[in-house]
Amino acid sequence: MVVPVTAAPDCLFCKIVAGDIPAEVVHTTESTVAFRDINPQAPLHVLVVPRDHEPDAAASAAADAAMFAEIATTARAVATGEGYDDYRLVFNTGAGVGQTVFHTHCHVLAGRAMTWPPG
Ligand code: 5GP
Ligand code: ZN
Repeated sequence: MVVPVTAAPDCLFCKIVAGDIPAEVVHTTESTVAFRDINPQAPLHVLVVPRDHEPDAAASAAADAAMFAEIATTARAVATGEGYDDYRLVFNTGAGVGQTVFHTHCHVLAGRAMTWPPG
């Protein structure tokens, strides 16, 4: 198992990355872990998280651009691996738009019709 360089002691997703809290992991890479959302909003709803703790997408991108790119390629691998060519990626950034876990995560959603703009 790859040990993260940075972890926050009380962070839920750091604990999932470490294996201290169970999750249905569907894909791993050197820098990311992908697991099913506990409250799925679509037939496919997976969260791709970096192993290293940062609070949001911009912070992760600033910390490690290559790792941040790996989130997007991991998301595609998860979606296509489950038979979806079309999928939506969402990074909620800030409590005001619904971010509830402050460890960077990319929602990968697929398998139902989606509206634009999102609600
Ligand atoms: P946010 O609202 O921060 O963008 O997304 C956080 C996501 O984490 C939510 O979709 C929520 O359902 C998911 N989540 C919260 N707690 C857990 C958990 O313990 N396990 C898993 N697999 N997902 C979780
Ligand atoms: Zn964390």
